[in-house]
Amino acid sequence: MSGSEVVRMAIPVLPEPLPGTPGRPPLPRLASPVPNPAIRGRDAKGEGHFGASRDGGRRTHLGIDLIAAPGTPVLSAIGGTVSRLGWAYGGDPHYRYVEVTAPTGLVIRHFYVAPLVKADEAVEAGRTLLGTVQDLTRRYPGITNHLHLEARQAADPELRSHRVRDFAGRVTDLYKTYPVIDPTPLLPS
Ligand SMILES: [Zn+2]
Repeated sequence: MSGSEVVRMAIPVLPEPLPGTPGRPPLPRLASPVPNPAIRGRDAKGEGHFGASRDGGRRTHLGIDLIAAPGTPVLSAIGGTVSRLGWAYGGDPHYRYVEVTAPTGLVIRHFYVAPLVKADEAVEAGRTLLGTVQDLTRRYPGITNHLHLEARQAADPELRSHRVRDFAGRVTDLYKTYPVIDPTPLLPS
């Protein structure tokens, strides 16, 4: 590569389970986090399939939206450890996500969930109640309420926290550098 060449770093997407690929554990089936999972169809704010257009095409949807009414119990999609209770939007203390990391390094963020678990808690796929679905229409009138599910593969399966401090003391979220996984084919049909 020549020194003047500008390379746009695309986030790699893992579309399908790839059993046996060296250095990459096979992707597991996910447990359904909400009853009768159905992808959010088009509404006033967009649609919920993986890769859907966002912000007028400036970015794509890197997760899936499963239709769920506010208050719906959310079960963990994978077994592992609660690695982070985060905020979905900077400056908005209301909307939360629950991040679970599996021993394989697979990381799932369950968005718009009022947490009922604590950080570092062990959780079981399809069994542990992570929290309840939050009402997104408060922020986006006309949107179909849903659980946003996002999956990525951590580079280091041993990592239990994906936020690190750099030499200047700034916190970096390594999660955003991990390859994105389309969770659609991993959900129970
Ligand atoms: Zn979404």
